[in-house]
Amino acid sequence: MLQISTDNSGNTMGGRTTLADLAQFSFNDRDSQTMNIYQADDILRRDWRDELVDVEMEYALGVSATFKDGTKLHVAAWADCCDGSGCKHCRGY
Ligand SMILES: [Zn+2]
Repeated sequence: MLQISTDNSGNTMGGRTTLADLAQFSFNDRDSQTMNIYQADDILRRDWRDELVDVEMEYALGVSATFKDGTKLHVAAWADCCDGSGCKHCRGY
């Protein structure tokens, strides 16, 4: 199951379809249970790099992206980055 939501209340461009709406499609084949926040961040930066203003990440919870049109996308990503033995993400190198 993918848990994803958009917040278009800050839409400054007046478009009916916002960047947050469109960015949801990048996660079509994902599952919040098995995705970690680093994977979600990678997807956003791969597909939406030029449209992103900010990405906030909360470990084992999810990511919140803010786009240039002022809209936001929240994607749940509950998985751990690794089995706890340490990876480039949690070790920091
Ligand atoms: Zn790790």
